[in-house]
Amino acid sequence: MFNWLADGLLIGGAGILFATLSAVRQLVNQLPTGALRRRWHVMSALIGLFIACYLAYAAVAYSGNDSWHDLIVPVVFFFGAVFVWLSITSANLTVMDLRRVALLEHEAIIDPLMGLYNRRYLERRLEEELSKAIRHRTKLSAMMLDIDHFKRVNDTHGHQAGDLVLCHVGKLVLAALRNSDVATRYGGEELVILAPSTSGHEAAIFAERLRQYVETHPLLLESEKGKREIKATISIGIAELASGEDCNALISNADKALYLAKKKGRNRVELHRSRSSIMGRNLDNPSVELV
Ligand code: GH3
Ligand code: MG
Ligand code: MG
Repeated sequence: MFNWLADGLLIGGAGILFATLSAVRQLVNQLPTGALRRRWHVMSALIGLFIACYLAYAAVAYSGNDSWHDLIVPVVFFFGAVFVWLSITSANLTVMDLRRVALLEHEAIIDPLMGLYNRRYLERRLEEELSKAIRHRTKLSAMMLDIDHFKRVNDTHGHQAGDLVLCHVGKLVLAALRNSDVATRYGGEELVILAPSTSGHEAAIFAERLRQYVETHPLLLESEKGKREIKATISIGIAELASGEDCNALISNADKALYLAKKKGRNRVELHRSRSSIMGRNLDNPSVELV
C-alpha cells in the first residue's frame, strides 16, 4: 500500500544526497586545510556511503532477495548518527572560528585604552561617509576633540592616572554619542567624531553638550593616598563638509577650529566657517563660536 511512497522517498532521498555532494565539495574547496576540512571530507565520504546504501536497498527490494535488508537499515541508522554528530561538532568549530575572527576584527579597529575606534577605522569610514554624503546630498560634519592641558594631568598625577583619564573620557564620549556618530581616537589625547547627516551647526550643539558633560563629570580615583578627583575639560573644533572638499580638507578644517578653541582659552567649541557651507548663524551659547 505504501510502495509508491517508499519508492518516492528513496528516489527523492538519493537525489538530495547527490545534490548535497556537490555543495559539500564547494564548501571543502573554500575551507583552509585543517581539522574542519578533514571532517568535511569524512562527511562527504559518508554521503557517498548513504548513496551506496540507497542503491543497495533499491537493488535488494527489486530482486526480492531480503538477505541484505537486515544489514543495510542499521548501517544507514548508525552512520546517520555519526553524520549528525560530525555536523554538530563541525558547526561548533565553525562558530568558534567566527568568534575568533570577530575578536580579531574588533582588536584591529578598537583602541584598547579609550574603547573607541582607532585612526585606521576612521580613515575607512571617512571615505565611506564622504561618498554617501556626496551620493545622497546629505551633510557630514567632523568634530576634533582634544583634552585640555593633558600634559599637566600626567605631570601632576602620573602617567597611569593620565591613562585612566583617557579611559574615562572615552566612556563619557561613548555615553553621550548618538547612534549614527563614529567616535575615534585620532592619536594621543585627540579624538575625531564623525557625524553623518549632521550640519556643522547641529554638530556644534551636540559638541557643546559633550563639552559640558565632560566638564561636569570628573574622574574619581581611590588609592592608598585617599580619594582624588581629576577634572578634565575638552576643546572641540567642528567642520562641515563643503562641496568639492575631500576627507583631508574636512579634518584639516576641524583641526583649524580646534586650534582656535585652544587659542581662545580652551574648554570651548569652535565651528569652522567654510565658504560654501551655510554658516553665520550664531548660537545662543557663548562658548560656541564660528571661526
Ligand atoms: P593642550 O591644552 O594645548 O592640548 O595641552 P596638552 O598638554 O593637552 O597638549 P600636549 O600636546 O602638549 O600634550 C599632550 C600630552 O598627552 C603629551 C603626552 O604625553 C600625553 N599623552 C599622549 N598619549 C597618551 C597616553 O596614551 N597616555 C597618557 N597618559 N598620556 C598620553
Ligand atoms: Mg591636549
Ligand atoms: Mg593634543
